[in-house]
Amino acid sequence: MDRVMRPRPYPYFIMISRTEHTTIIAGPCAVESYGQMDTVCQTLHRLGITHLRGGCFKPRTSCNTFRGLGSEGLRIMSEMRRKYSLTVITEVRDTKHLDEVAETADIIQIGAKSMFDNDLLLACGELKKTVVLKRNFAATVKELVSAAEFISSRGNDDIILCERGIRSFENNTRFTLDLCGVSWLKENTQFPIIVDPSHAMGLAYGIPDLARASVAMGIDGLMIEIHPEPSKALSDARQQLDMRQFEALYTSLLPIAKAIGKTII
Ligand code: PEP
Ligand code: MN
Repeated sequence: MDRVMRPRPYPYFIMISRTEHTTIIAGPCAVESYGQMDTVCQTLHRLGITHLRGGCFKPRTSCNTFRGLGSEGLRIMSEMRRKYSLTVITEVRDTKHLDEVAETADIIQIGAKSMFDNDLLLACGELKKTVVLKRNFAATVKELVSAAEFISSRGNDDIILCERGIRSFENNTRFTLDLCGVSWLKENTQFPIIVDPSHAMGLAYGIPDLARASVAMGIDGLMIEIHPEPSKALSDARQQLDMRQFEALYTSLLPIAKAIGKTII
């Protein structure tokens, strides 16, 4: 397969690119309250981390679970962006929310469950914003690249691919992190590639190991779910790291990145 990706034309602002950096993106699964976000952002600020994640429109497996604060969540994200000078990443689940999400987000996330939503991909292709495209858990890497081409076909080449775990026969962990797929994407595309070990593992204890393995592979970024009190989280409680666990993980990543000639930012 030909290498996919064209040069990124001005005025696209490349926030994460294939450089000597590994960008850390952290934040809760879902924005739940101002206080929760402020605690998270104080930690990011202290560590010098500049990229905040947090879902406001949450895609869920069960309709009886928390589906996000919606517009109110976006307002909280906006306030965090301003207060702590952060780059904000949040998911758009539906084209009907796209304008609203794009007003707050510096980087738009398309979730794993939406990877096959042609209309959403095309609509994000009309934006002049970076898009993080998460791999569907039943998609091959080539299908992920095809989904990215829906976005780029409308003129937006500013796309980051995210490996977040695929479904395999293994069911003791939530999904299986496909680092072979990451290697394939590194070799065969020019998209920046980030890894989300949180959704892949689904269990907090395994996430530091997977994060370190991913950084050692030379990925462009890492997306980690963190929460001030994971056990009380309204979504994905079992996989979120608390502030102390996250700080320990962050510190352990620095020498690993350095060993392969990269800097954590
Ligand atoms: C998320 O990152 O908030 C999320 C829902 O992940 P995924 O789309 O990978 O399931
Ligand atoms: Mn989550």
